Amino acid sequence: VKAEGRGHYQYFSESMTDAARDRIHLDARLRQALARQEFRVFYQPLVDIASGRIVGAEALVRWLDPEEGLIPPARFIPIAEETGLIREIGAWVLQETCRQGREWLDAGIAPLVLAVNVSGHQIRHGHFGAQVEDVLRTTGFPAASLELELTESTLMGEREEITELLEWLRSRAIRLAIDDFGTGYSSLAYLKRFPLDVLKIDKSFVDDIPHDRDDCEITLTIINMAHTLGFKVLAEGVETAEQLAFLQAHGCDMYQGYLRSKPVPAEAFLKLLQG
Ligand code: C2E
Ligand code: CA
Ligand code: CA
Ligand code: CA
Repeated sequence: VKAEGRGHYQYFSESMTDAARDRIHLDARLRQALARQEFRVFYQPLVDIASGRIVGAEALVRWLDPEEGLIPPARFIPIAEETGLIREIGAWVLQETCRQGREWLDAGIAPLVLAVNVSGHQIRHGHFGAQVEDVLRTTGFPAASLELELTESTLMGEREEITELLEWLRSRAIRLAIDDFGTGYSSLAYLKRFPLDVLKIDKSFVDDIPHDRDDCEITLTIINMAHTLGFKVLAEGVETAEQLAFLQAHGCDMYQGYLRSKPVPAEAFLKLLQG
């Protein structure tokens, strides 16, 4: 029994070491990837439901590893969140997206809203407002065309400071969206308190509409609540015409999903706009 216990312990401790080593290794590779400019921004259309027009895009990061090829964010964002490197990656995504947005404007493309995901690390860092200001100034991208996507859990932190930051961003005409709405710790009180523009209904609620009654009810409730509070609503992960018809019939403002397009590189996004 003693030997077995010891063996078990050794196995456990070795596997922990492996996991820790993997994490350190991936962190080092991610830092290198930043330095070598191996990250790419893909763009997924945000579609106005009433007109069917593309009104913007969400910027989604990918890692173009020279050996492995395109690596999706699910494989590296969680580690970057753990180590805090998401601050640097997020700053790069913001900069690159605004640079691209300015380039599109200069090429005569009609103004688009570009939505960028913001991690809680970036918000808590303290200089986020200054960083955004800096990026807008250096790229010349209009503040009113930038949308920042925050999650419910990010907003649950230091309320005073976050409220101040959001109010400042809003005073600069930057748009604020709540991402993955309905999956986090939500309270009606914070929805009322924060100066928001858009609620993004999480894909998990959209998946089974119009067939799952509960999901339909939840989606309708979110749409109505958002409108009551004066926010726009966007449904994420729309894959079928049936889902879109339901959303349209119930007054949802925008959608995003494979039905229109997967996230694509900048050049392909431009073709979507022109096609
Ligand atoms: P998210 O912010 O909720 O982004 C939407 C995700 O849903 C994207 O996955 C998008 O490709 C996917 N999606 C959109 N429409 C559909 C659909 O119709 N069907 C299906 N099956 N999926 C759809 P992606 O690009 O793999 O990103 C995953 C997550 O990684 C994002 O979820 C976000 O949380 C995170 N992420 C991506 N880029 C960044 C970034 O620059 N910064 C931060 N902090 N997080 C990021
Ligand atoms: Ca998002
Ligand atoms: Ca989302
Ligand atoms: Ca469901």
